[in-house]
Amino acid sequence: MRIGVYPGTFDPITYGHMDIIHRAAGIVDKIIVAVAANAGKDPLFSLSEREKFVQQGLKRTHFNALYFACRQTFQSLLTHFCHSVQAKIIIRGLRAISDFEYEFQMTGMNARLDPGIDTVFLMASEKYQFISSRFVKEISLLGGDVTSFVSPRIATLLQQQFKKKSLLKS
Ligand code: ADP
Repeated sequence: MRIGVYPGTFDPITYGHMDIIHRAAGIVDKIIVAVAANAGKDPLFSLSEREKFVQQGLKRTHFNALYFACRQTFQSLLTHFCHSVQAKIIIRGLRAISDFEYEFQMTGMNARLDPGIDTVFLMASEKYQFISSRFVKEISLLGGDVTSFVSPRIATLLQQQFKKKSLLKS
């Protein structure tokens, strides 16, 4: 069985991420969406919230998501995590040339750490390619409608989260 790991911060999961998960169905037999703690990125949502959003997103997928896809959190080195779940494929998404340099370096480092693991890059459909969690947060912070990028539930939670933060500041 080919097991793939799709790692990311997923802060929050977007339709772009979901599109990559769908595409991965053609490449691996099972995908583990690995939600990284990534404290260095100072995520807006906690690790458990981000994991819950991924779980809800997977439930909405068209295929038998429970069999094909599952999610886990991880705080360790990605290659160690892959080893622990017996995955030999890392799935990453590429949006633009700007993603390439970072992804290229990360793939090179991971290949050094564990040459038995390969990284496969997928592109989301044209409709979702430009979506990034970072911009979704910025748009939401400024009061814009993000329901074409994330689920309505996540859009509402983003608004609530920003309200909570601004109340804490004042
Ligand atoms: P990370 O902090 O690891 O970059 P992200 O959640 O931002 O975590 O992204 C996880 C992966 O999903 C990355 O490989 C990223 O390039 C990819 N990705 C995110 N959004 C899209 C999108 N709209 N289209 C294609 N790939 C995407």
